[in-house]
Amino acid sequence: MPYDESGQYYPSRGIDGRMILGGIIALIGITLYMSQTQVNPVTGKKQHIAMSVDQEKSLGLQAAPKMSAEMGGSIDPETDRRAALVAEVGRRIVNKSDAARSPYMDNFHFHLLRDPKTVNAFALPGGQVFITLGLLTKLSDESEIAGVLGHEVGHVVNRHAAEHMAKGQLGQLLSVAVGVGASGGDDGGRTASMVASMVNQMSQLKFSRDDESEADMLGMKYMAQAGYNPTAMLDVMKVLKEASAGGRTPEMLATHPLPETRIEAIRSILKEDYPNGVPKALSRGRKLNWQPASER
Ligand SMILES: [Zn+2]
Repeated sequence: MPYDESGQYYPSRGIDGRMILGGIIALIGITLYMSQTQVNPVTGKKQHIAMSVDQEKSLGLQAAPKMSAEMGGSIDPETDRRAALVAEVGRRIVNKSDAARSPYMDNFHFHLLRDPKTVNAFALPGGQVFITLGLLTKLSDESEIAGVLGHEVGHVVNRHAAEHMAKGQLGQLLSVAVGVGASGGDDGGRTASMVASMVNQMSQLKFSRDDESEADMLGMKYMAQAGYNPTAMLDVMKVLKEASAGGRTPEMLATHPLPETRIEAIRSILKEDYPNGVPKALSRGRKLNWQPASER
């Protein structure tokens, strides 16, 4: 468009127009997203714009380092047994459950974040899953880790973030922005940081009540398929409930369902799936004995 609104001609500049266009589209996306959450996300216009699986993976991968950095950084599983355990339990859930048939299968990555105070777990689109040291050290056995990670895997497989983004229209705009930026070629770094900061904002959005229930249900299914006792999910809820009593509400409880409601729902799932009790083959896994030094 060579003319501005006053009719004056201005020449198109030789700099990277695609990048600028991408940036503008992204800004519009952020603005829409912000205004929408300020008004009322529930009444937001519903649109079903699915990002592609590849876009989800790419966004998640690009945002992961920034996400990690905000909570102390990822602990290296090569040198830390706790991080190694998180990766191991996560992998086991993904490999041995229905999640293995998802297109995210090879893209799952389970990060342990160094923040010892924040009690939280969350997932970015496409398979980047995070648990803080603050939450991990409150868990008492392997199956509780499986409950937390299974819940997050459930969000990923059901594409809750992408769905949510689509509802906020940001997903559509973002896909366009990413597409425009990426097609420009030599601006990969700037595109990446732009994408990262936006995804970072998106990751703080809250899932709906239905999404949370669905993630609980799927998490229990996946953990059981991987051989873990799904009653551990009840203990996870207790841990989260206690943590939220301290003022900070973990992601897994930040949304509408009251802990009691979710605990009831989990109980009824257990009753329905295991009318004769949970089979002995489903184990609570190894007990976790946290060193006092790692408990804070
Ligand atoms: Zn959740």
